[in-house]
This record gives sequence, structure tokens and C-alpha cells, in this order.
Amino acid sequence: LLAADGGLGVTIFEEMTNLAVQTGAINLGQGFPDEDGPQEILDAARDAIAAGANQYAPGKGIPQLRAAVAAHQERFYGLTPDPDTEVLITTGATEAIAASLLAFTGPGDEVLTLEPFYDSYGAVIGLSGATHVTAPLLAPDFMPDLAALEAAFSERTRVVLLNNPHNPTGAVFPREVLQKVVALAQKHDVLIITDEVYEHLTFGVRHIPVASLPGAAERTITISSAGKTFSLTGWKIGWLTGPAELVAAARTVKQFLTYSSGTPFQPAIAAGLGLPDSFYQGIAASLEQKRDILSEGLRAAGFGVYAPQGTYFVNVDTAPLGITDSVDLARRLPGLVGVAAIPVPVFCHPEGAERTRSLLRFAFCKKADVLEEAAGRLAALG
Ligand code: PMP
Ligand code: GLN
Repeated sequence: LLAADGGLGVTIFEEMTNLAVQTGAINLGQGFPDEDGPQEILDAARDAIAAGANQYAPGKGIPQLRAAVAAHQERFYGLTPDPDTEVLITTGATEAIAASLLAFTGPGDEVLTLEPFYDSYGAVIGLSGATHVTAPLLAPDFMPDLAALEAAFSERTRVVLLNNPHNPTGAVFPREVLQKVVALAQKHDVLIITDEVYEHLTFGVRHIPVASLPGAAERTITISSAGKTFSLTGWKIGWLTGPAELVAAARTVKQFLTYSSGTPFQPAIAAGLGLPDSFYQGIAASLEQKRDILSEGLRAAGFGVYAPQGTYFVNVDTAPLGITDSVDLARRLPGLVGVAAIPVPVFCHPEGAERTRSLLRFAFCKKADVLEEAAGRLAALG
């Protein structure tokens, strides 16, 4: 018999959030904002509930939301997915990742990701029975080692699973890097699954969807979610887009994961996707300020700080403080100074864990005074 948890254990986010709650620490571990998304979206969900949108939604999502996802892709990227056949609404990006990996991979296949990698990738690749192969992102800018990436492809590679902007490193990949990934995917005739949940959370650089690159669209499933863009991580409304036959395969799996996703949230997110460009610029600008406040505080506390170009997260090196084991530090930090963070090695296989041994991830999607208080507490470490 397997262990009761199937060997997968409790996620690091749950572990660190529980520790933060127990110790009363400021939680800069799990990435969720401490302010809710726009009032009009909250009102729209309340109105939808009052109007009776409380039973199962159609399995592929309500037409209004599928149309809004397609219109959003056209507005920002010039992409024109067909809302009927090329868009699937999911229960967060998490379900989109699971449905697409389970649809396309199985025992004997290899799935290639960059490393560090978001925790659900390793778990779902494991559930699918495929083998997880990685290529490293290298400090200080956390760009992929392209030679290692090329060497990591084999005749068994079935999917390259990208994440851009990248959690946990905060890297945003430039066009040349993405083009190289597409060229390799073409050469080896593999699918690209790209997780772009932080698409709107970039600082001074533009997010480039993989699907917008020449030769990519026909082999790419793009995943995103309302959680990050609209500061509504608990609503768990996500989506995937791509060629009709790929979306249909993911939909087949989704039927048996959740069947359908939160009915009253769907019209509300459709309304959110229609917000003017100024909303999208505002959320990125506000996060950029938060990034700067926390980065400054972390620098003052003596950490080596890797400035992120996107996401909710900043990575630091603890070595300048004489601390080399970030997993051990993360477990002690809430009790020690009252701040929780996530150690980067947990996003890695053993070799990558060794390479990232002294890296710690802090979330900055919090109010300015909370970030300042956290930085002040961390200064006590030095
Ligand atoms: N992918 C990445 C890279 C993430 O950071 C997260 C969570 N924040 C998810 C997927 C999951 O998104 P959701 O909450 O929409 O399921
Ligand atoms: N994506 C969030 C993070 O990286 C956590 C989501 C979760 O707890 N599964 O912090």
C-alpha cells in the first residue's frame, strides 16, 4: 500500500500557511493578495447568485465567459480563439494543468519543465504516470540554460510545460527564449502547454504569449486564470485555449475531474475581463511598487535580492546572512521573527534543490504597511 497521501504529502503552501497561522506570523509564503479584486466583479457574483445562477454551469463554461476569454486574447495579443471550440473554462489554472497533462501524457512519456517548477506540475506528471525531466533556470536572471534544455529533449518527450511569467523565480522570458522553445518543440514534434497565470503581472517588460509566436499556435495549449489578474485567488476560475482537438481532449478529462466550474463566478469574471486597459495597467503598477518596497526591505535586512520582472514573488539568497539551508530557515522563520516564506528547493528535484539551497521566496502581494512591517522583522535576522 502507498502511504495515505500517495507519497505526495501536504503542499508547501499549506504547510507554511498553517505555520504562519499557528505562530501569528505575517504570511509572505503562499501567494494570495490581502486586498480583494474590483468591487464591480464582487457585485456581479452577488447579483448572479441572487438571480439564480447556482446550479451546474455547462461543462465547458458559460458562453459569456468563453466569449470574454476570447475577446481578452484578441485585445491584448491579437489571438482569436473560437469561443465554442477553442476555449475551456476550468476550476482554476490548477485544473487546466491537470486536465491537459492527463489528456496528453501517460506511462512511457516524458514531460519537460524548467526548474524550479510550480509544485502541481511534478505532482500531476506523477499522477499521469509520465516521467518528469527538467532543465535548469540559472541565477541571477533565472533564464533557462538553453543547451541543457535542448539536451533534455528525447524521443519520449511528449510535452514541454512552460510557465511564463515564472513562479517561483519571477523571471519573464524574452521573445528569443520563447522562440527557442518553440523551435525545439517543432523539431521534436511535441506539444507545448504554457501556464501564463501571471500574464498581466509584469514590471517594465511585456508578456509574450507563446501561442502568438510563429509556428506555435497549432501545438500550444495556453492556460490562465482569474485568480492573479483580479486578486480573487479563492474563486478558482481558470481557462485553457488552443486548437479545437487539443481543447476537446482536455475537456474530456475535465468532465471527470470537476465536470463544471463555479457558476456564479463565471459571469462575474466575464465582466472583469472586459475592464478597461487602465485596470490592467493599475494592477501591474501597484504590484511593482509593492515589489520595490519588499525588495528594498530585504536588501536592508542583508539578503541578496534577485529583482523579479513579474509575478507576486521575489527570491532572495540567504547566504550573505551566513544561512545556507533555506528549507530549515523557512521552517524556523515564523517562530524566529514572525514572517513566513517558501524555500525554493521544494520546487526542485534533488540536483536543483542543491543548486537553490540558499534561496527563499517571498510574496509581495500585500499592503505596503504589511510589507514594511515584515521587512522590519526580518532585519532582526542580520
Ligand atoms: N500556475 C502557477 C504558476 C501558479 O503560481 C498558480 C497559483 N498561484 C497556479 C498555476 C494555480 O492557479 P489557480 O489558483 O488559478 O488554480
Ligand atoms: N500559487 C500559489 C503560490 O505559489 C499557491 C497556490 C496553492 O496554494 N496551491 O504561492
